[in-house]
Amino acid sequence: MRPFDRRHALQLLGAGGVGLIGGLIGGLPFAAFAQDGAYPRNLLTDPKFGTDPFTLGVASGDPASDGFVIWTRLAPHPLEPYGGMALKPVAVGWEVAEDEHFGTVAAKGEALAHPELAHSVHVEVAGLKPDRPYWYRFHVGGEDSMVGRSRTLPAAGAKVQRLRFAAAGCQHYEQGLYTAWRHIAEEPVDFVFHYGDYIYEGADHGEGPLKVNGRSYDGMRRHVGGEIYTLDDYRRRYALYKSDADLKAAHASAPFWMSFDDHEVDNNWASDFDQDGTPPEVFLFRRAMAMQAYYEHMPLRRASMPQGSHMRMYRGARYGDLMSAFVLDTRQYRADQLYGDTLAALGPEAFAERSIMGAAQEKWLYDGLGASDTRWNLIAHQVMVMNLNQKKQPVKKGADKVATYSMDQWPGYMANRRRLLDCIEKRCPGNVVNVRGDAHRHYAGDLVQDADAPGADGKVISSEFLATSIASGADGLGDNDAYSRQVRADNAFLKATTDQRGYLLCDVTPGEWIGELKVVDKVTTPGGKLSTYARFAIENGKPGLHRA
Ligand code: FE
Ligand code: CA
Repeated sequence: MRPFDRRHALQLLGAGGVGLIGGLIGGLPFAAFAQDGAYPRNLLTDPKFGTDPFTLGVASGDPASDGFVIWTRLAPHPLEPYGGMALKPVAVGWEVAEDEHFGTVAAKGEALAHPELAHSVHVEVAGLKPDRPYWYRFHVGGEDSMVGRSRTLPAAGAKVQRLRFAAAGCQHYEQGLYTAWRHIAEEPVDFVFHYGDYIYEGADHGEGPLKVNGRSYDGMRRHVGGEIYTLDDYRRRYALYKSDADLKAAHASAPFWMSFDDHEVDNNWASDFDQDGTPPEVFLFRRAMAMQAYYEHMPLRRASMPQGSHMRMYRGARYGDLMSAFVLDTRQYRADQLYGDTLAALGPEAFAERSIMGAAQEKWLYDGLGASDTRWNLIAHQVMVMNLNQKKQPVKKGADKVATYSMDQWPGYMANRRRLLDCIEKRCPGNVVNVRGDAHRHYAGDLVQDADAPGADGKVISSEFLATSIASGADGLGDNDAYSRQVRADNAFLKATTDQRGYLLCDVTPGEWIGELKVVDKVTTPGGKLSTYARFAIENGKPGLHRA
């Protein structure tokens, strides 16, 4: 950051913005973006909003043993241009306390909300104690934000007896209420992993019923405007989604490990390619805007701030001696999808030297797994690793049916899949659990090498929980539709699947890892009831799921 000239800041006192009254601000040195303690010369002094500027709530994320990121964005009128903000930087106060009443304040300061970043605030709080909850809030213009609760990681060498987390994502705003987020907010979890599809880029579905998977629903929520392309479009889409009270409650309840999948940019994008055939150098402008808006709305560290069209999202964490977590990015570095990105039979191309992770991230993961000395390892990311035979389509009328697979998932990247499972088998046998989403159903199953390929031995190497969606897919079809019956019949390693909304809850202890597939019965009307669809255990050191 280039330091600002304090004289200029002092000359500009009284320069207020649209609808706001100017004046002098007092203040502490900034914790972020103004290391020299001076305010920028265009600072909006003494901001007054006349309404709640914290309409998008608060969030925390990327915990460390001495702190975490706390986030908010000033948006008094979230769907209006610039969220209703004047285009000037604003100083925002923050505090972190050891109790929910803020009796013992552990850290506090001021951070700048810049118009360049949609008046978002990202504070990397440090100097806290390990393995304990903290509460945080923000202040600006005489207004207080809601209170968020976060948690530091245990110290690296600490003995940890239990860890609980939820995994969730795919929250299409039009297709369902965020009832599952409300239930997550009430779970006693140490963190939430978000596997992506935080927003969907598509247009408003328009007047009349919403059609999802052959069903028709009246009175559903609507997007604003057409498909999103510009930075302002993406910002407004995040503002729409983040205005939801249930989502805000979930963010305020626990730190999140965020990752993005495809819909934060465009359906099934891969590296520099979108699905429409846009020239890569053109698509990258859209990707850059999408990533900027993503960063602006998520509790991410400075290390993830986008540089052009790239942002660093793969990263790791350690929960004492109990679990290492590896959060992957399988969008930004992947080879383009094969066979026109359809469900396809696996030809030689699918087994060729291609990566869904990119060489640098693969090395980082395999080195990390090789060096790991924790009881368990979590690999958390976006799309299915199971080699799921999804449909048997006759190639020609009257011909034999063939096994087909999603080219947007790991079966389109079989060489990378082999390297991953080889690494797990050789370096971390029996203690790697894979958690992801994207498919808008719960799936729980075991990972075997090249499941349907000639010579496959069917040996279980690891297991996978694929968490269903929060909202995408509306109420769903349950577990006895034709697709559910087909995939269960054709995939021996698949232990359960159902098309309902919900989330995954993991309860990790030294001896076993329990995964619960949580479902809500309805998301198209309020008050959906929570239940457990299935519960599986993995014994430490013995790969494979068992009903629990
Ligand atoms: Fe999705
Ligand atoms: Ca997806």
